[in-house]
Amino acid sequence: MAKQALCPCGRGLPYAECCGPVHQGAPASSAEVLMRSRYSAFALDDDDYVLRTWHPQTRPPAIEPDSGLRWVGLANI
Ligand SMILES: [Zn+2]
Repeated sequence: MAKQALCPCGRGLPYAECCGPVHQGAPASSAEVLMRSRYSAFALDDDDYVLRTWHPQTRPPAIEPDSGLRWVGLANI
């Protein structure tokens, strides 16, 4: 992903200043940051991150790619 591209989580920041550092190992500073980073990981097909941040008791052994799935945004409902 290009450094200046907006983060898929919809916060309005470049990926490199938003979920990028969390995906690379920086601790999530809040539950919202963690939730956004997991959403972005799904949108970017970062399966390793998704599995790393999934509780071991409910985590599947692997994630099957779904090429028909399109992540369009986070909503607070
Ligand atoms: Zn983000």
